[in-house]
Order: sequence, then C-alpha cells, then structure tokens
Amino acid sequence: MKRICLALLALLMGCGVAMAAPIKVMILDGQSGGAYHDWKLTTQIMKRQLEEAGVFDVTVVTAPRDDGDFSNFRPDFAKYQVVVSNYDGADWPAALKSEFENYMKNGGGLVVVHGADNAFPNWPAYNEMIGVGGWRGRDAPAGPKWYYRGGKLESDSSAGPAGMHGLRTPFRVTARSLQHPIMRGLPANWMHHTDELYSRLRGPGKNMTVLATAYADPSNRGTGFDEPMLMALRFGKGRIFHTTLGHDAIAISCVGFITVLQRGAEWAATGRVTQKVPKNFPTADSASYRADFAAMDTSRPAAK
Ligand code: ZN
Repeated sequence: MKRICLALLALLMGCGVAMAAPIKVMILDGQSGGAYHDWKLTTQIMKRQLEEAGVFDVTVVTAPRDDGDFSNFRPDFAKYQVVVSNYDGADWPAALKSEFENYMKNGGGLVVVHGADNAFPNWPAYNEMIGVGGWRGRDAPAGPKWYYRGGKLESDSSAGPAGMHGLRTPFRVTARSLQHPIMRGLPANWMHHTDELYSRLRGPGKNMTVLATAYADPSNRGTGFDEPMLMALRFGKGRIFHTTLGHDAIAISCVGFITVLQRGAEWAATGRVTQKVPKNFPTADSASYRADFAAMDTSRPAAK
C-alpha cells in the first residue's frame, strides 16, 4: 500500500510540473506622449503573442489619459509576476510610484518595450530599472550615453539630448551575452524586421547586462556605434528585461521580437526560460515575420 501511495504521489508531482500554474502578466499601457505609438494596437498584438507561448495568463491594465485623474488608479502589482510596460504617459502620484518600487524591490518583474523607455524622465528609480531611456528632456543629469564600441560597453557623459532614430528599416541585431537565459539558443546575429533603431539613450546603466546591440548607421541618422537593443537589469530582488525594439505592428510582427518578448517576460517573472527558440527565427541575413500580425498595421496604406 505504501509503495502504491508513493507511486501515486510521484505521479501527482509529475502532473504538477506539467501543469504548472500560468505566469500572471499585466500589460500596462496608456496615453502615449504623442500620436506616434499606437499602443492600443501593439498591446492587443503583444497580448496574443504572450498567450501563444502557452505559459502566461495576461491581463491588460490601462492607465488614465495624460490629463486624467490618477487618484483611483492603483493596480495591484503584487497579483502579477511580471508587468509588461507599453506605457508612455503622465507621471504618477508619489504613492503609486512607491508601490511600484516596492513591488520591484521585493522581486517583481518588469518588461519595458520601446517607447516605454521614454516615460518618467524624472523618476530616478524607474530610470534605474530601465538602465537607459530617451527623449522627454533627458540630458547629462539623466546619466551617460551607453553603447558598444570595438566589442566593449562604453559610456559618454558629455551633454546633449537623449534619444534618436532614423527612418524605419530592417537591421541586424548582434548578441552580446549568449549565455543569458533569454539569449541561450538564439543565433549570434539576426535580422530584425522594419523598425526604429533607438540610439543615444542615456541613463544610470546600473546592474545592466547588454544582451544585444545593433549598429546605428550614420547614413540613417545613426551614431556610428553599436547601440543597446536588449538589456537585462536588476533592481533590488526584481528583474527587468528592456527591449528598445517594437515601434509598431510591423516591428512587433518580427519573429525575433516575439521570441525575446516571450522569453524576456518569463525570465523577468521567474529567472528562468523554459521556451524553445522557434524554427522560423530570423537568420543573420534574412528577417522573419508573422504576416498575420503585420497585416494589423494601420499606419500606412497596404503595400501594392
Ligand atoms: Zn517609436
């Protein structure tokens, strides 16, 4: 009898592993500083992308408009293992900021997508979480500019505005930390589908591991440096995955974007990545994107 019970217990434990509770994700979005990010659309697409991974339970929380009333906006961060920020809007009241800082210090997870690194230029803890950010008046006091040159991470403290990008084009992403759980199994180089290439970002760069960079070509308003594209950071016991990729539906239809979003969210939530790299991941020379997501783009007339 005892042996049967033990066997049953082992079986149940096995089932427990196979049917692990989904990771609770909050996609946080809201008013963009300008009309240039269609966050309602990109949130909808990223929700589907996360759900497709099969390990997440996703809830969307939308902040009030820039001119709205934040006094009743108190998302219960602790209910979620990771917050995916697609938010570039008004500053938050002090109490809400401190709730979020405590959530992160105590082991919360955060994923910062593209324009979300424009938000909160005057919130020191947030800037520590994201490592680098752009626009919204950021200059030397925000921290140095960070980039790779000659294969090494460098910083430049000289004054000047933060944040720049050229025209949207496909560009090559180069891995810098292939041993990191988010990056393990990905190719050393891959072509990202058409997107803005953020450069000249500034920030404290504390506890920051640059996972991947991309060359910002001076012929397309680039710095001539290899700019950080994907980063992993720590804030207290919390983990942050920051991707500067993801301007619009076209950009986030890239299989590379989707893969690192899914893997980055799992890592930020748990510190591990259990998902496999898909077979249609882009290669060093050819981009790979999901036509169904790209077709949701509304920013330009359909290609003839
Ligand atoms: Zn953008």
